[in-house]
Amino acid sequence: MRIILLGAPGAGKGTIAKALMEADSSVQISTGDILRNAVKAGTGLGKEAQGYMERGELVPDTLIMEIMESRFQEPDCQKGFILDGFPRTIPQAESLKLLLEKLNLKLDLVVNLDVPKAVILDRLTTRRTCSNPECQEIYNIRSKLPTADGKCKKCGSPVVQRDDETEEAITKRLETYNQKTAPLIDFYLREGLLKTIKSTSSEEIVSIIRREIGLSG
Ligand code: ADP
Ligand code: ZN
Repeated sequence: MRIILLGAPGAGKGTIAKALMEADSSVQISTGDILRNAVKAGTGLGKEAQGYMERGELVPDTLIMEIMESRFQEPDCQKGFILDGFPRTIPQAESLKLLLEKLNLKLDLVVNLDVPKAVILDRLTTRRTCSNPECQEIYNIRSKLPTADGKCKKCGSPVVQRDDETEEAITKRLETYNQKTAPLIDFYLREGLLKTIKSTSSEEIVSIIRREIGLSG
């Protein structure tokens, strides 16, 4: 499958992407994960991106497009991809359109995860993430606990709160979403690719997506 997951921070894009990956051999491509790994590794890209990320602002489009152009060339993208957190702005969506035309690839679907704001706020403040860059499993201090001593159940690394998950940065990320990313809903509606899903159950969301792109179950 080749799909884009749209939705506010905390809408569940990462969770849905991981669940979809299990159903298919498509890869999840999360620009947020790529950027966080670059920051942790202290690469040039990481150094450029870090300040924007900590403030809850978007990283410049040109930097993101460089990342994505090279990411799409990697062989694991051949079988399909689930884009999680990209595109984030109209210029990114327009560049993606040209890039996919150049690579002769067509999107199957753009999913808009429409989750009430109260649910989003609650999820973001209670969310915790595995600190192992290779894992990044998502936990929740109320509904999906790590081990009693705060370790990841998958890999044993410490589970932490992300730097951009302070209340101030969360508010800023939601504002940025409304200003810069929400307009993509109309963009993909006009492209005839949009499917809005108003559910908070990931099982239900995954089965709607699978049905929509013609996979059974
Ligand atoms: P969330 O969707 O929960 O905000 P992400 O992990 O997708 O988190 O992104 C974290 C941060 O990384 C963003 O706040 C932004 O600074 C940066 N980022 C990720 N993807 C993009 C993108 N496509 N364009 C610009 N900045 C991005
Ligand atoms: Zn882990």
